[in-house]
Amino acid sequence: PRVAGLPTEMAPPALSFEFFPPRTDALEQQLWACVRRLEPLAPRFVSVTYGAGGTTQERTHAMVARLVRETSLTPAAHLTCVGASRGEVDDVARAYWDAGVRHIVALRGDAPAGEASYVPHPEGYAYAADLVAGLKRVADFEISVAAYPEIHPTAQSDSHDIDNLKRKIDAGATRAITQYFFDTDVFLRFLDRALAAGITVPIVPGILPVSNFKQVAKFSAMCGASVPAWMGKLFEGLDDDPETRRMVAASLAAEQVRLLRANGVDEFHFYTLNRADLTYAIAHILGARPRQPAAA
Ligand code: FAD
Repeated sequence: PRVAGLPTEMAPPALSFEFFPPRTDALEQQLWACVRRLEPLAPRFVSVTYGAGGTTQERTHAMVARLVRETSLTPAAHLTCVGASRGEVDDVARAYWDAGVRHIVALRGDAPAGEASYVPHPEGYAYAADLVAGLKRVADFEISVAAYPEIHPTAQSDSHDIDNLKRKIDAGATRAITQYFFDTDVFLRFLDRALAAGITVPIVPGILPVSNFKQVAKFSAMCGASVPAWMGKLFEGLDDDPETRRMVAASLAAEQVRLLRANGVDEFHFYTLNRADLTYAIAHILGARPRQPAAA
């Protein structure tokens, strides 16, 4: 539909924000400034990504623990099964449960850099659907899983990929969060296909506010998200003009969420990239307002 504005009586949508664990002290400060700026918007949950191997994974655990200890936010810990035995994954999940974490974003993960294709660990959960079932055996977690409006890059076909999403839901997941996309029609058609396949849990669009177009174009090629030509045109000539780029990015994302909202979407997940400003502005446009501090 055409979107001139949103009805003012519409309740603000449910929001969630994704962060990644930073690698340096300076980036750590940037992350926590971002968390504190977004916290008053009272998101339904905030999620923390999980990388491959030792210290990267420890950073996720530490960040999730700090969110529990020091903020009013509800954390959702991403957890992958690539490269780990079932026992190792179960131990991580149990430690989260004991630390008060009740929500896991359950993912397969990708083959390590340098390996041509994904091979399941011999004693591991082979795919995300197996991981979901395993996590449910550990404890009664709330579980979100990944979905791909443009199909996962290595899926055999559209229908295999939708069947896979259905298996993840049947195993106990209660929400799917999508890979980011820029063409709203692609997402809306995906919702129709998922519904036709009997998937009735919320499928939450993953919104990536783009301020560094060049970087996003490069990354999108790897994760199977297409970047429409009109978008390249919008950022044309702005490589050395970050200020204008950010304004273009804000208007682009605002248009995208307003169109989704007008089509009935009432839950949004933001890939914040640990920066608050664009996400905050777009959440504001969607009707989110900072929670008033409790009266003394
Ligand atoms: P699955 O659902 O297991 O699917 C992977 C592929 O295998 C699909 O092509 C599927 O169709 C196919 N498949 C499934 N079952 C079978 C089967 N039995 N036989 C044959 N093929 C099968 N990665 C990280 O490393 N850390 C993160 O924190 C992280 N967070 C993410 C958050 C979101 C919202 C999204 C969308 C992705 C995230 N990723 C993350 C990336 C994710 O790990 C990759 O996209 C990965 O390639 C697939 O993970 P999945 O959970 O979707 O896998």
